[in-house]
Amino acid sequence: MQSILYCALNRHYVTPELSTVLQDMARDMAAAHPDTVTQVLDAGFPFWNGMPLLPHLSHNDGEKADIAFFYENENGYLRGQTRSPIGYFAFQNGPTSCPKRWPSLRWDMAWLQGVWPNWSLDDRRMATALRLLKNDPRVDKVFVEPHLAQRYGVTGGKVRFQGCRAARHDDHIHMQL
Ligand SMILES: [Zn+2]
Repeated sequence: MQSILYCALNRHYVTPELSTVLQDMARDMAAAHPDTVTQVLDAGFPFWNGMPLLPHLSHNDGEKADIAFFYENENGYLRGQTRSPIGYFAFQNGPTSCPKRWPSLRWDMAWLQGVWPNWSLDDRRMATALRLLKNDPRVDKVFVEPHLAQRYGVTGGKVRFQGCRAARHDDHIHMQL
């Protein structure tokens, strides 16, 4: 887990299969890029199936998890660090076909963006992470903004756009079984 907060709030529960998938991914990431830490953000509540983990409407069955982006600065890979303290809401702006609209969960949080450190995505680790998820037959869908899917060469198939009304996926990767 990226933050102890997710555990304190009981947002870290997953099915045994998803747990295995995530641990395999972390192992494969570290094999491809030594010293890499792969971090989970929100996953699911333990209480009962069908209870959504707000604001993630789909995180309701222990088969979905959000994975933190991988960052670097001028000194290289930032191990286990995220631009925002909770991993979310540090957006990587890029071209989008979504209109400006309200209400939706597609928050921009422009007022917050200047607060985060000015780190870049670690392109090598981002590309590996998305490729691992795409190639894992146990993974059914991966949500990431189209401009990032394009940048890392993983467009199409199970890599989808979540739609303009849902939360943005240029601050984290969503994956599900
Ligand atoms: Zn998600």
